[in-house]
Amino acid sequence: METISDRIHGILKEYWGYRQFRPLQQEIIEHVLQGRDALALLPTGGGKSVCFQVPAMAMRGVCLVVSPLIALMKDQVENLVRRGIPAAAIYGGLSRQEMEWILNGAVHGRYKFLYVSPERCQNEMFLAHLRQMQVCLLAVDEAHCISQWGYDFRPPYLQIAGLRPILPGVPLLALTATATPDVVEDIQEKLQVHPRKVFRKSFGRENLVYYVIYDEDKMGRLERIVRKLKGSGIVYTRSRRRTVDVSMQLQQRGIPAACYHAGLPPAERSLRQDAWMAGKVQVMVATNAFGMGIDKPDVRFVVHLDLPDTLEAYFQEAGRAGRDGRRSFALLVYHDSDRLAARENFGKSYPSMDFIRRVYDALGNYCQVPAGCGEGAVFPFDLRHFCHEYVLPVPETASAVSFLERAGYFRLSDSVKESSRLRIIADYEVLYRYQVEHPGQEALLQALLRVHGGRLFSDYAGISEKEMARRCGQTEDQVRKQLALLHSHSIVDYRPLPAGVLLWWGQDRLKHFPSLPGEVYAARKAAARRKLDAVIGYATEKSLCRSRYLLQYFGEEGSPDCGSCDVCIERKHPVLSMEDRGRLLAKAEPLLQAPRDMKAFMEALPDEPELLLRQFWNELLAEERIVSSDGCSFSWNQQAGKTETTPEDRTGSGMFPGSERFPAGLADSATCN
Ligand code: ADP
Repeated sequence: METISDRIHGILKEYWGYRQFRPLQQEIIEHVLQGRDALALLPTGGGKSVCFQVPAMAMRGVCLVVSPLIALMKDQVENLVRRGIPAAAIYGGLSRQEMEWILNGAVHGRYKFLYVSPERCQNEMFLAHLRQMQVCLLAVDEAHCISQWGYDFRPPYLQIAGLRPILPGVPLLALTATATPDVVEDIQEKLQVHPRKVFRKSFGRENLVYYVIYDEDKMGRLERIVRKLKGSGIVYTRSRRRTVDVSMQLQQRGIPAACYHAGLPPAERSLRQDAWMAGKVQVMVATNAFGMGIDKPDVRFVVHLDLPDTLEAYFQEAGRAGRDGRRSFALLVYHDSDRLAARENFGKSYPSMDFIRRVYDALGNYCQVPAGCGEGAVFPFDLRHFCHEYVLPVPETASAVSFLERAGYFRLSDSVKESSRLRIIADYEVLYRYQVEHPGQEALLQALLRVHGGRLFSDYAGISEKEMARRCGQTEDQVRKQLALLHSHSIVDYRPLPAGVLLWWGQDRLKHFPSLPGEVYAARKAAARRKLDAVIGYATEKSLCRSRYLLQYFGEEGSPDCGSCDVCIERKHPVLSMEDRGRLLAKAEPLLQAPRDMKAFMEALPDEPELLLRQFWNELLAEERIVSSDGCSFSWNQQAGKTETTPEDRTGSGMFPGSERFPAGLADSATCN
C-alpha cells in the first residue's frame, strides 16, 4: 500500500529530481493534503514553491497561485513547463483574448497550475471562470504583501480574501520569507486562515557573518572587502547613478564589475546577469531591482553601501549570500551621514496623498484616458517627459508612480522577462496550406516552431524577434513585418512589445481618487518610519549580536549569539599572546606540510585549547601563511614571509578598521561546511 509519504516523495523525485524534502516541507505538504489551511514562513531559498507544487500534483484539479510579481510568475511557469507540468499565468497586460484563452483552458483542466496577479482576482471575467474551475489548492505567495504593516503592502492583495467564499473547502497555503509578529497575525486574519496554523522555520543563517563597518571612505573600504573576500559578490546601492559610479570605480581598480538597475534595457540586463552568474563578472553593483529569482549558490558577500529601507529588505538581499551553505558575508558599510540621507529620502518616498492624487490625475490626462475607462490600455511612458509636461518634481513623482503601481492602478514594464507574445491560431492543416501558398513565410514559421515547439498551438509564448531574425537570416524589422502579416492573415495572434517603458492601466480611471482611504496611507507611512528606525538601530547597535537583532525583529526570541558578527567578535575575541603564537607556529609548520582542514588541524593538537586554535588558524589564513587549492584543506604557504608579526599588526585586518578586530568568521569562510 502506497503511503502519503511515498506518494509525495515519488512526485518530488519524478518531477524535481530531489530525493529528500527540506526541513518543514513534508509537514506542510501533508497538512495541506489533509485539506487544511496554513501559513508557512520559510527563509528565502528554503524551498517554498515545492510546498504547494508537490501537494497540488497529488490532488485533482488546478492549483491557483497568487503572486505579486509578473517576472516571478513567468519564471515559475517556465520552470513548471520545463518539468512537463502544464501551467499558465494571467496578469494585467495580457489581452482579453489571451486571458480568455487561458481561463477556458483552466476550466477544461488544461493546466495544473494557474498563476494570477492579485489585481486580476477582482476581474469579472476571471471570477466567472473561476466559479467553473475545479480548484484543489489556493496558494498565496509573498503573503506579507497583504499586510499594511508589512514592508511591501500591495492593496490588491486584499482582494484575495474575496476568493475564499467562491472556493469553499479549498485549502489555502500562504507563504512568505519575511514576517514580523504583527504581520503573521495580519496575514492569518486577512486570508481567513482557519483554524490558524503557522509553520515557521528558523530564519537563522548560521553560515552568514553579519558585519556593520563604520567608514566614510566607502569606495576604499569596498575595494579592500572585495580583494579580501574574493568570490562572487553583490553590492547594493540606493540609486541607479551610484551603481554606475561604483562599478566604474571598481573596474578602474582592476576588479571585474558590472552595474544593474531597472533603467537598463532588458537585453542588457540579461547579458549582465548572465555574465555575473557565470562568474565572468565578479561583482554586481545593483539597486534593489537585482536579485529576485536569482539563485546563485556561491555568492560570497553582499555589501550594502547605503542603508536599506527596511530590515526585511536587508535580510532578503543579504540572504542572497551563501546559499550553498558555505561561510559568506553580509556587510553594511555605514557612516553617520547615511542616517540623515535616509530620513530625507523617507520624506520623498512618502509624498502626501494630495500629491499622489495630482500625479494620478496627470497620468490620466497624459494618457488621455477618460474616467470610467482604461483597464488594460497600454501607453509608452517616459517619467522625465511626463514630469516636464506636468511640472512635477522627479523623485517624488517616481515615488507616487511606484505607489500607484503597487496599489494595482498601473503596471510599468520593467521586467527583464518582458517580450512580445505569440500563439498560432490556425490549425495544422491550415498552417500547412498557408506555408505552401506563401513560401516566403515558411522560414519564419519553421523557426518559430523549432524554438517553441507545438506548444505554440495551445499557448502564448514569449518570443524574441531578434532571435527569429538571426535564425532566418533577416533583419528584426523584416521579422516584425512578417509577423504582423501572419497576424492579419489569422495564422498567428501576435502581440508585439514596443520599445521603451510601457504603462498598463490595471483598472479603469477613477473619477474620485483614491480608492484607498487616507488613514490607511498615513498608517502605512508610520509603519514605514518604524521600519526605518529599526534599520538605523541595526546600523548603530553596539552590544546586541547582529544575527540576534535580526531574528528578534522577525519575532524569533531566544536565539544564541552567532559568535561571528562584529559585535560578538568585538566582545569576546581573544588576542593570542606572543608566547602562545610562537609555540603554535612551531607545531603548525611541520603539521601543515600536508594539507589539512581546520578540524583535522585541531584534532592533531588535542592538548591546545580549542578557542586558541581557532583564533590561531584564523590568523594563519589572514596572513596567508596557509593556502588551499580546493577551498577545504590548507597547507603551509612556502612563499609566505618568515617575519613575525606583532599582536598589534594582527588586530587590524586591512578590511576592517584598525580599532576593530579581524573577524574570526572570515577565516572560517575557507573551511568546508
Ligand atoms: P524560495 O521561494 O523559498 O526562495 P524556491 O522555492 O525558489 O525557494 O527554492 C529554492 C531552490 O531550492 C530551488 O532551486 C528549488 O528547486 C530548490 N529546492 C526546493 N526544495 C528542494 C529539496 N527538497 N531538495 C533540493 N532542492 C530543493
